[in-house]
Amino acid sequence: MLSNLLQSANLFHLLFVIDSELAAIKRSSGCPYCGGQLHQSNYMRQPRGGPAGLPDEYCLRRSLCCGRDGCRRRNMPESCLFMGRRVYWRCVVLIATSLMQRRAESQSIGELSRLLGISRKVIMRWFEYFTEVFGSSSEWLRIRGFLPASVSNDGLPANFLEYCMMQSRDALGGLVMCCRLLGRGG
Ligand SMILES: [Zn+2]
Repeated sequence: MLSNLLQSANLFHLLFVIDSELAAIKRSSGCPYCGGQLHQSNYMRQPRGGPAGLPDEYCLRRSLCCGRDGCRRRNMPESCLFMGRRVYWRCVVLIATSLMQRRAESQSIGELSRLLGISRKVIMRWFEYFTEVFGSSSEWLRIRGFLPASVSNDGLPANFLEYCMMQSRDALGGLVMCCRLLGRGG
């Protein structure tokens, strides 16, 4: 069952490592506005939907801040763990929405909601986002060109997740690939 993947601490570890690299790369390139040095100004989040007992550092949203007086602008590195301001982990949003799209006719959204421990309303909101907004988002457009035409906009995100799983050794690897492509754009 796909939802079991979300209980894997290894999944979060792999995504955390990628996020750490993304933050280091962004930091080394300096402030995009003035070229000043970037400092860490990370903050704690309390993302939902993962296994209990994950290390606190995984919940750190990386953030950088320009150290130059008169600029001091904040710079957010890309993230595979987090999806914008959503309170659930990115992988949870992807799995829940994909399961909702691929559920058997006999399975109601209410059952899925109970299985995942996520309210029906939240799952529906994610689904609407993927059907109405995501297809024209910059996040999607920057990777769309590298993907086969079979990953069409009207089947997102389940078709994209399935594509990643086909390209990977196992389901966990596919989910990591999916989060990585969406997070860093390629
Ligand atoms: Zn600056």
